[in-house]
Amino acid sequence: MGNKDLRLALIMLGAPGSGKGTQGEFLEKFTGFKRYVMSDIIKKELRPGNALYDRVFKQGILLGDSEIFDLFRRYFGSEQQVIIDGIPRTLDQAYWLYGYLIKHKYDIELVYLHVDEKKLVKRVTSRFYCPKCHTLYNTLSKKSQKEGFCDHDGEKLIQREDDTEKVFKERLKTFDEVRKVILDVYKGDVIEVDGDQDIEKVSQDIMKKIILR
Ligand SMILES: [Zn+2]
Repeated sequence: MGNKDLRLALIMLGAPGSGKGTQGEFLEKFTGFKRYVMSDIIKKELRPGNALYDRVFKQGILLGDSEIFDLFRRYFGSEQQVIIDGIPRTLDQAYWLYGYLIKHKYDIELVYLHVDEKKLVKRVTSRFYCPKCHTLYNTLSKKSQKEGFCDHDGEKLIQREDDTEKVFKERLKTFDEVRKVILDVYKGDVIEVDGDQDIEKVSQDIMKKIILR
């Protein structure tokens, strides 16, 4: 975007499988905004031997909000225009991030990728793979010749646990509860975009809505 004086933070929000990550990547390329993905930051920190690694893998403790905040503060470079993905995920994170960005003089826009839930379930649960040769299949767009079996070695195709209907619907339910809370905190700064379109079209919609706000 043209105005380099504008301090703008785009926060990405979308259900699992909504294409939020892909969209963030595309927006980053398209706009040149600096993008922060919380899961990438966490992965960088989880090295054998450091305290966080021991806690997560040896003691099985998930990261708490205060650890998430510490990590974010350490990595965040306060560039003029940023894209933030993977935080907030809780009510406390929603308030904390809002305050943090305001303190750093950002205009905030929460980009909510809205995707039809039924379509989402269909899309995600159609993914299968071969455990032997790792070929990916899709019962909607890339079927195997013999249903349920690999074309290359005849191995029975399986699903990632996260892609099974039961697990995926649970993840959606969890997201849905958090979503309502987050949207409430960012009320007035929410850009809702139809996520059931081509990646490029979604990006264009987001940019249009930011410019027109
Ligand atoms: Zn195979």
